[in-house]
Amino acid sequence: MARYTGPVCRLCRREGMKLYLKGARCEGPKCPIVQRNPPRNFPPGQHGQRRTRRPSEFGLQLREKQKVRRFYGIMETQFRKHYGEAARRGGVTGDNLLQILESRLDNVVYRMGFGDSRPQARQLVRHGHFTVNGRKTNVPSFLVKANDVIAVRPESRKREYFKDFQDILATKQSPDWILMNNTDLSGRVLQLPLREQIYVPTFNEALIVEHYSR
Ligand code: SF4
Repeated sequence: MARYTGPVCRLCRREGMKLYLKGARCEGPKCPIVQRNPPRNFPPGQHGQRRTRRPSEFGLQLREKQKVRRFYGIMETQFRKHYGEAARRGGVTGDNLLQILESRLDNVVYRMGFGDSRPQARQLVRHGHFTVNGRKTNVPSFLVKANDVIAVRPESRKREYFKDFQDILATKQSPDWILMNNTDLSGRVLQLPLREQIYVPTFNEALIVEHYSR
């Protein structure tokens, strides 16, 4: 269950867009993508400010895949597994892939509002603070299904972190495919999200499908 532990802002700089990996800081003026003095909205590293050549077709596909993978905080092996599952399901593979990524437990916990960022939500899951249908589940890649109930574990509710969460959740907007019960610190998955219910930056899933179909 590996995860990336290096500096995360450079991932956004490499992809040239905000991937929202640092919670509240991503909305502030210190985000390097929007920072003005000095601006750092160019790719990281020694050659980051070199004039870039027109990317090849492969380059475009690779960047799109990396962008989505980093946005959801997944390593290559796991991402490829998710792609394999998406290709096995019927329908549009790109849509299936995004649906699978959205239904990962760490993402669902983030969408429910329990973490400021996906990495934080992932850590909460890894530390065993959540149950799925009453069973403690600490696997971030666990895929939820329709009608699953995700809740904060009763033991964890006494912790300082979760004490004011009823009020915090009231200020947050959960997606329309999750029905929140703020009093109970839980949520029910009404259905797996459709493509139009998945709010992500402008991703071109078709390029990822082309990348893996080479
Ligand atoms: Fe860093 Fe967040 Fe800005 Fe990305 S969006 S560069 S993680 S502050």
